Parts: sequence; structure tokens; C-alpha cells
Amino acid sequence: MNVQFDRIALIGIGLIGSSLAHDIRRLGLAREIVVATRSADTLKRAEELGLGDRYTTSSADAVEGADLVIVSVPVGASESVAKEIAASLKPGAIVTDVGSTKASVIAQMQPHIPAGVHFIPGHPLAGTEKSGPDAGFPGLFESRWCIFTPVAGTDETALKRLRSFWEALGSKVDEMDAQHHDKVLAIVSHLPHLIAYNIVGTADDLETVTESEVIKYSASGFRDFTRLAASDPTMWRDVCLHNRDAILEMLARFSEDLAYLQRAIRWGEGDKIFELFTRTRAIRRSIVQAGQDVDAPDFGRPHPLEKK
Ligand code: NAP
Repeated sequence: MNVQFDRIALIGIGLIGSSLAHDIRRLGLAREIVVATRSADTLKRAEELGLGDRYTTSSADAVEGADLVIVSVPVGASESVAKEIAASLKPGAIVTDVGSTKASVIAQMQPHIPAGVHFIPGHPLAGTEKSGPDAGFPGLFESRWCIFTPVAGTDETALKRLRSFWEALGSKVDEMDAQHHDKVLAIVSHLPHLIAYNIVGTADDLETVTESEVIKYSASGFRDFTRLAASDPTMWRDVCLHNRDAILEMLARFSEDLAYLQRAIRWGEGDKIFELFTRTRAIRRSIVQAGQDVDAPDFGRPHPLEKK
């Protein structure tokens, strides 16, 4: 399968778009990379970083003649991008996205994609808490999953071609229904971010513990939540609004389980608490075994007297 494209248009050049640009260039996956972003400032920065071969603030201009279009913008902007590019898409082109929610992106984009253009929604499960074109780096997608949520009637050849593209970036590709994707991601990604945003917000609101104490003693657990809670506010606002049902369902389950733990603590039911903590420890081990994290203590943070 030929993984090289003549022209790839990257619509949005933040953390994900710029990481794609680095890898497309490094791996020679396109003869030409066209970069589009809405603001002149971000476009200038992308150009300074040498992320593409051509640069424009017009998404419509960027997709002209492109055989692969990758949309990497906050999910709430998907419809406006689809509307803007629709009339300029080349027949036979593949249009994909990287959005963290899928049913909503499909509802926003699919109606605008002309017949003869292959729309294949996707989501790479890779990222950091940073955003913007400076945040991207080569190898972000290496050994990470990329989930496709194909719509009915998707062309098999286009699907295979896009799969080969992500595999060339080092990703493992899975396919599932968009609704199922949104449920799975609600528990493995969206809920953890909400818990982190909430706990950091709670600490910020406390009256009896000072902010300087929270910061000073943060290494005892709090610090690990702050990484997630530093994630891009626009992106995560959009995720909350565009995966509303699945997130609300998972939050309800979470609140019930928290009430169970609360009750066990209140009544001194140590066996229940111990059983839960033993079960969760095993999950961490499975994640390490699946190669989705390293086994180093404290997430591999260096400690001052640690032997090299
Ligand atoms: P980012 O670093 O904040 O970059 C966002 C890009 O989208 C910029 O080029 C920005 O343009 C553009 N943009 C922002 N608002 C827009 C709007 N209303 N209309 C058109 N363009 C707009 O974001 P990112 O982290 O790369 O995330 C991009 C997508 O990837 C999101 O859908 C997110 O859900 C998904 N994703 C993110 C991660 C992650 O860890 N960050 C992981 C997997 C998937 P300007 O700067 O020119 O305004």
C-alpha cells in the first residue's frame, strides 16, 4: 500500500497538527505539506518552525488539490471548517480529523462532505497538556492507538490507505462505532480530565489551606492532577459540550462509586476500602504490561540522589 500522498493539507497546526507535520516530513509521507490555520500569528509561527511547504489562513485554499486533508481543530469548530472546505475538495480526496469526540464531529462534518470525497473520522490517542505549533514533536503517535469510526459505506481502499498512513507514524489502528468510541473515551480520558480540573479547582477554593501550602506540598499526590488540569481550556470545553451524554453517564457512575467509598470510610469498613485499592493497583500493572506506560516509579521523574 502506497503511504505517500502528493499533497497533504493540515487544517489546524496546534499540538496535533504540528506533530503530524513533523512526522510527515521526517517519514517522507507527502510531496507537499500545506498548512492552514485561522490566525496570522499561529501561521507565522508555523512558518518560522518550517512545518510546511505552503502556508495560508484560508482552509479552502489549503485543500485545493490535496489528496489527504487532516482537520486538527477543537471539535466545536468542525462544522465551520467542513463548510469552508467543502466546495474546494478534490474528488477522491480523503478527509479525516483527529477530534477527541466522534459522534458530534460526524454530525457536524459529514453533511457537508461532497460525494466522491472519502470522509473517515479518526482520533489518535496521543497528546500532552501543551498546545500550539511549538508543542508538537516527532514521534508523538509512536506506539499509540489511533481509532477510526468509519461511517456507513466507507470506501475500503481509502480506509486501508489512511490506516497505512497512521501505521507509518508508528500508531496501532482500531475501528469502532462512534457512539462506542465516545463512551470508551468518556471513561479513559474525559472523566480523568474532569476529575483533575475539579480537584485543582477545589484546592484553589479552600479557605483553611493556603495556596502556598498546596503548591509547597503538591508532590504528595496533587501534582499529578495538575498536569491534566493544565490542558487546553478551549479543547476541553468543546469535549465536554460535544460528548455530553457519555460524560454525564460516566459522572453519574463515578459519583455513585465515590458515595460507596465515602460510606466505607464513614463506617470504618477497611475490608471494602482495601479490596478496591487492590483491584485498582492491578489495573496499573495491566497498563504497564500493555506498553501504555513505563514501570518507573513516580512516572519516571528523576529524584535528586537516584543512581543514574
Ligand atoms: P491546539 O494546540 O490548541 O491547536 C488548535 C488549532 O486549531 C490551531 O491551529 C488553532 O488556530 C485552530 N483553531 C482553534 N479554534 C478554532 C476555530 N474556532 N476555528 C478554526 N480553527 C481553530 O489543539 P490540539 O491539541 O492540536 O487539538 C486539536 C484537536 O485534536 C482537537 O479536536 C482535540 O480534541 C484533538 N486531540 C487533542 C489531543 C491533545 O492531547 N491535545 C489528543 C488527541 C486529539 P489558531 O491558533 O490560528 O487560532
